[in-house]
Amino acid sequence: MARIAFIGLGNMGGPMAANLVKVGHEVLGFDLAAPVLKAAEESGIKPASHASQAVKDADIVITMLPQGRHVLTAWTDILQSTAQGTLVIDCSTIDVESSRRAHEMAKAASCLSLDAPVSGGTGGASAGTLTFMAGGSEEAFAKAKPILEAMGKKIVHCGEAGAGQAAKICNNMILGISMVGVCEAFVLAEKLGLSHQALFDVASTSSGQCWSINTYCPVPGPVPTSPANNDYKPGFAAALMLKDLRLSQEAALASGASTPLGAEAAQLYALFEKLGNGGKDFSAIIEMFREKM
Ligand code: NAD
Repeated sequence: MARIAFIGLGNMGGPMAANLVKVGHEVLGFDLAAPVLKAAEESGIKPASHASQAVKDADIVITMLPQGRHVLTAWTDILQSTAQGTLVIDCSTIDVESSRRAHEMAKAASCLSLDAPVSGGTGGASAGTLTFMAGGSEEAFAKAKPILEAMGKKIVHCGEAGAGQAAKICNNMILGISMVGVCEAFVLAEKLGLSHQALFDVASTSSGQCWSINTYCPVPGPVPTSPANNDYKPGFAAALMLKDLRLSQEAALASGASTPLGAEAAQLYALFEKLGNGGKDFSAIIEMFREKM
């Protein structure tokens, strides 16, 4: 069993670290927020007073932090205390450029590194059923895989440094665009007098089918487990969808990719958030389309 340092024990990091404890790893944790660190202690995570204390003597370090700037600050700190050959994994969703910079910092410190963002949300983090999208060397991936398997059910090696982040934002750009499309179709159906169930029965089994309608239907009824049946409680908050769409647009700008629908979806989610809906599930954007925009 490994000695693992886990930095960032919030909504995602807390339950992920707890799953590592459950399979017998020794987990030392650190979070800037004292109440978060205290809650983690109840799951068997040993609290450290500083990131450098947690990572000292660790075989593996995992970070799960809000944004690229937090990751770069934390890794600057961490890499001063890790032994050569330590594997450092970042599971946060961050911009590809910061991710690649973090890999370079690890290389300069003679450490192995992996970007391994996740999908599956807080439910998947608690249940240990996350999907990990990893970027980094074969050696880093091979060492990380058994550890990631304690927190997820599907682990995909997407390529070299930053490839995990690239896969994550491309996937979520598809999701943002498809949800907007599905919501527009239901609003049009309402205007045309077509029932939700009828549209669902046709589209979910024909060429309109996609995760946004089949699994996460944005109107109550057809898919009982979707957030639409639970007052649009997340699920996946609209603010997080906006974050990922913005990351996709930053990457599109930097790489010269043309993503007009990704840009439009980002604008729509920005407006939705501005109207005070950032905490609702992202499928609630259907409510905005029912208003005259
Ligand atoms: P969160 O805000 O609940 O947790 C982040 C934690 O990091 C906080 O507790 C904060 O105190 C801590 N932190 C910040 N800077 C730190 C530092 N330098 N050292 C130590 N601790 C520090 O966020 P979350 O929901 O757990 O999300 C974490 C990451 O996972 C984000 O990048 C997010 O985009 C991604 N993600 C979230 C979800 C989700 O459903 N919540 C799903 C997929 C991916």
